[in-house]
Amino acid sequence: MSDIFGFADELGPTKVIHVYEPSVQLRGILVIDNVAAGPSIGGVRMAPDVSVEECFRLARAMTMKNAAAELAHGGGKAVLVGDPKMPRDDKERLLRTMASSLRNVEDYIFAPDMGTDEDCMAWVRDEIGRVVGLPRVLGGIPLDEIGATGWGLAHSAEVAAEFVGLELDGARIAVQGFGAVGKHAARFLKQKGAVLIGASDSRGTVHNPKGLDVDALWELKLEGCSVVDYTDGTRGDTDAIIDLDCEIWIPAARPDVINENNVDRLRTRLVMQGANIPATLEAESILHERGVLCVPDFIANAGGVICAAMEYQRAGESAVFPVIEDKIRRNTRSVLERAQRNNAPPREVAIELATERVHRAMDYRRYAVFSGAPGFV
Ligand code: NAD
Repeated sequence: MSDIFGFADELGPTKVIHVYEPSVQLRGILVIDNVAAGPSIGGVRMAPDVSVEECFRLARAMTMKNAAAELAHGGGKAVLVGDPKMPRDDKERLLRTMASSLRNVEDYIFAPDMGTDEDCMAWVRDEIGRVVGLPRVLGGIPLDEIGATGWGLAHSAEVAAEFVGLELDGARIAVQGFGAVGKHAARFLKQKGAVLIGASDSRGTVHNPKGLDVDALWELKLEGCSVVDYTDGTRGDTDAIIDLDCEIWIPAARPDVINENNVDRLRTRLVMQGANIPATLEAESILHERGVLCVPDFIANAGGVICAAMEYQRAGESAVFPVIEDKIRRNTRSVLERAQRNNAPPREVAIELATERVHRAMDYRRYAVFSGAPGFV
């Protein structure tokens, strides 16, 4: 907390709010990073060990993601200290108190993230109205159910494949984390001819070089089983997914799963980042030097937030797929073309591109004019 100013740079954060209400054991932080493009959208993360630093990083990541997707929204994030599996009544009390404490902070729009879901967003809406990720019955678009992020990821992969001379038809894919993002990515890539040869979840990995049945794996997960309960394949531990020989490797689980200690084990041509920050910067740079193309998280996995922004504008469910497809294909191509021209890692180029967009939006604001035009400060 004492180091708040250590995080500030020319983009933000514009507001940092400590939300504290001891009577209901509420402790939370809201970081609104940059609102030049519009009110910030970013999820509320609930976990026992959330930190202010994490909140700063996640809020900045949302600024980058929203700018890259050319949404009329800046980036923000809220964290809430607590066990997401606490009794429902307690959780409802916390979310309602958090929402009403932030009633007047109009440049933050609540959204779901790890530990919060559409029920939580429904409570927020009942309190203050400024929220996305609502249940369908309240006009929400259930982005995990329809596979918004997986849809965008599959389109990003199709564009990226051209840059490594890869045909999707017959391409072997491995998915780490067969959850909301991973299973939909596998489903949409299968429709483009790719073959899922490996999948993992928190209990282990299943592998079959001839292909796994995506629908059967999906059914298993719906029944509350693990991918390792799939019988037509070889089982391994959770880590085994890293060693599978494939053309496209999709991390869709946890941060930093690819790092300096295991990056040499990856045998793939394309890494499509479904999870947020799934690889360390060092690992990404090693992959770049080896000629493995990594499409950065905030370019490849923006389908969810694009869907959320459209829900906020009251778009219908069927309208979101073409918009996600168009934005993500265009962005993937711009980033990869520039990366190829400059022989630079795609993440470096993606940050440059998103930052340029934030600066252009900031130039329209009255205060703190960025690009040198006369301002008031
Ligand atoms: P999810 O909970 O639906 O799925 C995560 C899956 O990963 C689960 O099957 C879980 O068992 C598995 N898993 C957990 N630890 C693992 C490990 N060590 N090894 C292998 N598998 C493991 O979550 P999700 O919504 O699919 O999100 C996955 C990632 O994508 C997260 O990093 C999330 O922040 C990011 N993301 C999600 C969305 C979205 O639309 N849901 C959008 C952008 C980014």
